Amino acid sequence: MTMTRSAQAEPFHCGRCNTDKKAKAKAVRQKDDGTTDVICNGCYGNVMAGGDP
Ligand SMILES: [Zn+2]
Repeated sequence: MTMTRSAQAEPFHCGRCNTDKKAKAKAVRQKDDGTTDVICNGCYGNVMAGGDP
């Protein structure tokens, strides 16, 4: 999973909490089926803390 930061807040849709977000930081994760999705900073923290993927 890769954390990315933009210079400006950008809108995106978090694939984990299924919410539209606008933030500078987001994480791109690769799923088991080989596709990728984007998750928000909060979800990234939860995943890294050992929560549900
Ligand atoms: Zn999220």
